Amino acid sequence: MTTTPMNPETIVLHAGHRADPATGAVAVPIHQTVSYQFDSTDHAANLFSLSEIGNIYTRVGNPTNAVLEERMTALEGGVAALAVGSGQAAVTMALQNIAHAGDNIVSSTDLYGGSWNAFANTFKAMGIEVRFVDPEDPENFWRAADERTRAFFAETLPNPKLHVFPIAEVAAIGNEMGIPLIVDNTAAPVICRPFDHGAHVVVYSTTKYIGGHGTSIGGVIIDGGTFDWEGNAERFPMLNQPDPSYHGAVWTQAVKPLGPIAYILKARVTLLRDLGFCASPFNSFQFIQGLETLPLRMREHCRNAKWVADYLREHPMIERVIYPGEFTGLQRERAEKYLTNGFGGLVGFELAGGAEAGRDFIDALELFYHVANIGDARSLAIHPATTTHQQLGPEQQLATGVTPGYVRLSVGIEHIDDIIADLDRALASVAPAVIAA
Ligand code: PLP
Repeated sequence: MTTTPMNPETIVLHAGHRADPATGAVAVPIHQTVSYQFDSTDHAANLFSLSEIGNIYTRVGNPTNAVLEERMTALEGGVAALAVGSGQAAVTMALQNIAHAGDNIVSSTDLYGGSWNAFANTFKAMGIEVRFVDPEDPENFWRAADERTRAFFAETLPNPKLHVFPIAEVAAIGNEMGIPLIVDNTAAPVICRPFDHGAHVVVYSTTKYIGGHGTSIGGVIIDGGTFDWEGNAERFPMLNQPDPSYHGAVWTQAVKPLGPIAYILKARVTLLRDLGFCASPFNSFQFIQGLETLPLRMREHCRNAKWVADYLREHPMIERVIYPGEFTGLQRERAEKYLTNGFGGLVGFELAGGAEAGRDFIDALELFYHVANIGDARSLAIHPATTTHQQLGPEQQLATGVTPGYVRLSVGIEHIDDIIADLDRALASVAPAVIAA
């Protein structure tokens, strides 16, 4: 394999696998196995002690998952990755790897409803406080942090607001304070590379654009290898003091010869081992297939979404279009700075007529699927206030940008004329009385 740096379109087809050494198979084989034969007792002991890296048991590592991990690492420009069972598992593990009871995390308010809920309730029950701050002003992260803050967390392109997160600004604050920035880039693969802007760890729900066909749930955590865990030893004892769960290993020292992978290796050999959120090799195969066409699909998603935003802007029944390419001022600046390869496939809008009009519109769609998902090749629509964000109170809904009449579209890669025709038909069928009300 060439060592010349490759472009995303090439990386997604080639990184991490050329051909199966045993059979010559070009497609990545699905290694549907639980365990792996050891060569000898010495070999087994070396694997367990990490003096040699290799397969032991699929809960902590699998060759099909490993190709997905290598490909995602190459695509993002990181140093190593860990495939896990869902996007939610990736978010949870990325934080649990460095935050324990009594610690806190400072997170953007602009989050997927599931992450918000996990932080506000489940993390709280685990004794980890999540402090939510408005990312409009990056300094809010600095203001909310203290000596027990273990991470800053945010999404690159959070829906429904679609306000792009100021990655470089918050990463710089993190570097100054010794706090890593963990970015969920689920909605912006290929169009944004958070590591290029200083993020330290990237997480994905691969369920969305990476898979791209709505068939499998999965997630991945990618380590950028740039955070100085050793230089911030007081804040990160879990990486710098002997770990009793792994016969006293000091993670920043134990794996030094392998590169700056202390964070991600610890996640694999302790959290994945103990909590068990492992990826399915079959699902990893699906994500590898999805990855192969990801850059191609993202181009189409972005192109179609722009057409949809243009169409909605001119429609008399639409009060507001929420789309990064529609913003002005600071939001537009951030969108242009971070979404260097297109404004993404998500478009929100507010119908005159509020919640009732939103419901009528969704019920009238024929091509768009009405589902709780984004990033499928098919076009999808949802009314967040009654679905994805339903478990949040009205105030929390507003804080995340969900108003009663908001409709979210995940624009697919169908022909644009058919997408617009469906929107046109559904808008025309919203009862005039609802609009007038
Ligand atoms: N992060 C974001 C931004 C999401 O949109 C989602 C799911 O919608 C998740 C994480 C959770 O992913 P999963 O459904 O794969 O657990």
